[in-house]
Amino acid sequence: MSRIFNFSAGPSTLPESVLLKAQKEFLDWNGSGMSVMEISHRGKEFMSVAVELKNDLTEILNIPDNYKILFLQGGATGQFACIPQNILNGKTKACYVNTGAWSKKALKEAQNHCEVIVCADSEVSKFTTIPNYVDWNVDEQAAYLHYTDNETINGVEFQDIPSFGDIPLVCDMSSNILSRAIDVSKFAIIYAGAQKNMGPAGVTIVIVRDDMIGNADKNIASVFDYAQQAKNDSMLNTPATYNWYLVGLVMKWIKQEGGISAMEKRNQIKADKLYQAIETSSLYSNPVDKAYRSRMNIPFILADAELDKSFLELAGQQGLSALKGHRSVGGMRASIYNAMPEAGVNALIDFMQEFERTHG
Ligand SMILES: *Cc1c(COP(=O)(O)O)cnc(C)c1O
Repeated sequence: MSRIFNFSAGPSTLPESVLLKAQKEFLDWNGSGMSVMEISHRGKEFMSVAVELKNDLTEILNIPDNYKILFLQGGATGQFACIPQNILNGKTKACYVNTGAWSKKALKEAQNHCEVIVCADSEVSKFTTIPNYVDWNVDEQAAYLHYTDNETINGVEFQDIPSFGDIPLVCDMSSNILSRAIDVSKFAIIYAGAQKNMGPAGVTIVIVRDDMIGNADKNIASVFDYAQQAKNDSMLNTPATYNWYLVGLVMKWIKQEGGISAMEKRNQIKADKLYQAIETSSLYSNPVDKAYRSRMNIPFILADAELDKSFLELAGQQGLSALKGHRSVGGMRASIYNAMPEAGVNALIDFMQEFERTHG
């Protein structure tokens, strides 16, 4: 058996060494004679998994003391609803930036809980850019300002952190968390589903500043109440223990590889190469404003859509999988998260050039 290069947007490729370690420990974890998924989440053994996971994530992202890290279920989509329920705190409005498919889903869900002010919107451009901060209409009365750091479907990524006075900043980092250094102290909440850059689907990371905790709606489900989960170390009910373990292995892998700065450097090199290949070709193009191109999800359109089918077929034969673009954008999309090695990007570029030579 040989592993191929998997460009899936999510769930997505994981470091091979992590999978091998999990395989090795599958039946007998830590000499216990049991799988880590078979033991109590309240036991001393599992506690070590939980504590190391939290410590490693804190170290990797340099998370300040006045933040809690929660490991919840329900995905980033669950958080779309949890966020207003936890932090509106009597206010009636929230600001949302609409820069792509995921922003839009987040704001739609929030509309069930408050008045949503879309303070910046790039839908007229078909989500290929980010409106200039000077043009954002941020309402000072809003409880918070929500944006999506990386639009997984549209391939648009913020290059810095917007700042509008004291309004709490809430950020969906599902598809670029751990891909570059960030200043956590600028945010009220950062959240992310694990299945893009952290591990398998099934656990959601919420990094939440202490002052955002404790004001949830009275009728919120207790598993979604940040205060109750923080008080119980995210074990108000049985957590997704095996996922915690696997995300923990990914954290160890990041540290081994040189931490966040190594990830950032590698991701920049991979993305630069692929964009360069697209730019210098006459067959491929990327629709996104150069200033906001994603380093994680790179859509590209073939000049002749008739070629899409054979491109995907031949790519598949060469061990390059899951390159089909999202139906709303068309063409192709290469997701090149932390775990995609540079060799995978090189192989993709070689294939694209060969395909252009023979079909272009
Ligand atoms: C995948 C994704 C989501 C949805 O995540 P789920 O875990 O499926 O709920 C939300 N936001 C972004 C940016 C994503 O990439």
